[in-house]
Amino acid sequence: MASDTVSFAEAEHHQLIIVGSGPAGLTAALYAARANLSPVVIQGPEPGGQLITTTDVENYPGFPEGILGPAMMEKFSEQAARFGADLRWGTVSSIDLSERPFKLVVDERTPLTADTIIVSTGASARYLGLPNEQRLLGYGVSACATCDGAFFRDVEVAVVGGGDTAMEEALFLTRFATKVYVIHRRDELRASKIMQDRAFANDKIEFIWNSEVTDVLGEKGVEGITIKNNVDGSTSTLPVKGLFVAIGHKPNTDIFQGQLEMDETGYIITDGKSTRTSIEAVFASGDAQDHVYRQAITAAGTGSMAAIDAERWLAEQESAEITA
Ligand code: NDP
Repeated sequence: MASDTVSFAEAEHHQLIIVGSGPAGLTAALYAARANLSPVVIQGPEPGGQLITTTDVENYPGFPEGILGPAMMEKFSEQAARFGADLRWGTVSSIDLSERPFKLVVDERTPLTADTIIVSTGASARYLGLPNEQRLLGYGVSACATCDGAFFRDVEVAVVGGGDTAMEEALFLTRFATKVYVIHRRDELRASKIMQDRAFANDKIEFIWNSEVTDVLGEKGVEGITIKNNVDGSTSTLPVKGLFVAIGHKPNTDIFQGQLEMDETGYIITDGKSTRTSIEAVFASGDAQDHVYRQAITAAGTGSMAAIDAERWLAEQESAEITA
């Protein structure tokens, strides 16, 4: 709920506030700006979203040669701003959706109100919950090979996970590391066939099956990991200098808990083929509501849908007021 300590008496009011600035939020901003809704985008802690931590994007249509993630998000921002979207720094720290206009607080001090909201807060990497994982985060433990891989030249590293992200991270790390262990808790991968084939064909990658990492070792940096075999219960130590955790993502929807209907893992539930949430005039797009596809292009697609849904809702309100 919006903070009790912030007064909304003179809060700025907007027709539409978009929360988050990845492909979903910025596409919603583009469409809404072109529909003259003067959208305000509260960009959040990672302006540009997850693609900011990516290198080459080769599967976004329109870029036949590929494009760097940060460069692509810069283009998204420029395009939305060109039509008048107001992109603001800051993070929505609390929100009250109990009545309209909705109340938001940015960075625990700036109150705003809005007739409609588009939630496009995305998702963040999950961690294993190992005793020393968070202490060594940034000191050899990472959830982003594309961000940190270059720090691991000529050493051995490990990747945890059996999905597409784990394969992608492992393949990327072979550019720098002498060897990349992929540690997976089962004996079969979840990753797509093409990614599996690429990983199996790379002789720098070695799979450790049916195994779980139980801790990360090291004082100032990672010196190794301990592993438990799930079949025979045996334990071993692997002297790697880096641990890349690639076990999926968590939607960034905590501030909406108890207000918007969500599934058990926190993904916002939308109505049918629309972006409507359980609260009228609140729409959700991108990874915050999609645990299946999670692509930049699908996020952008649902961002445009959310803007169209918001625009139609506002138009219906206006025509109802004229008729009344
Ligand atoms: P996924 O959910 O697909 O895979 C997560 C992996 O982590 C699984 O293998 C899972 O094991 C494992 N895992 C989960 N929790 C734990 C744990 N506590 N301990 C050990 N292992 C664990 O996530 P991804 O991030 O890989 O992919 C998400 C989506 O994005 C997918 O749809 C994927 O296809 C897509 N994607 C596509 C890419 C591409 O096309 N280039 C690139 C990256 C992602 P288990 O298999 O046993 O459940």
